[in-house]
Amino acid sequence: MYLSEGDLKRAAAFLEMSRARFEKTYVYRTKHLLRLRKPRGSQCHFLRASGCSIHPAKPTQCRAFPFWPELVGNRAAWRKSGSYCPGIGAGPLVAIETAHRIAAEMRESYPGMYE
Ligand code: SF4
Repeated sequence: MYLSEGDLKRAAAFLEMSRARFEKTYVYRTKHLLRLRKPRGSQCHFLRASGCSIHPAKPTQCRAFPFWPELVGNRAAWRKSGSYCPGIGAGPLVAIETAHRIAAEMRESYPGMYE
């Protein structure tokens, strides 16, 4: 999962860690992107049996799923995501304006991913 600088700041504060310590422990930084490190044998350091242990401060990419620009604007990709995400196509309908607003937030949070 990718992080914005704001995501890093929020998650570190939620865990009562300094940003530097959070980054050193959980983040892989490249020239243009920040990513959560993936631990051995798990998809994410913060994934527990009960769900996301940093839910109130989880990265924008996690919070925005499935309304990512590459899914909202692509019917085939949306359907494919629905084959592994049980939440897609279930529950209350979400207005298309809401989906586009969340997708726009993704573009703003991770400009390096959508240049
Ligand atoms: S929602 Fe939480 S557990 Fe899932 S990938 Fe994001 S940070 Fe990790």
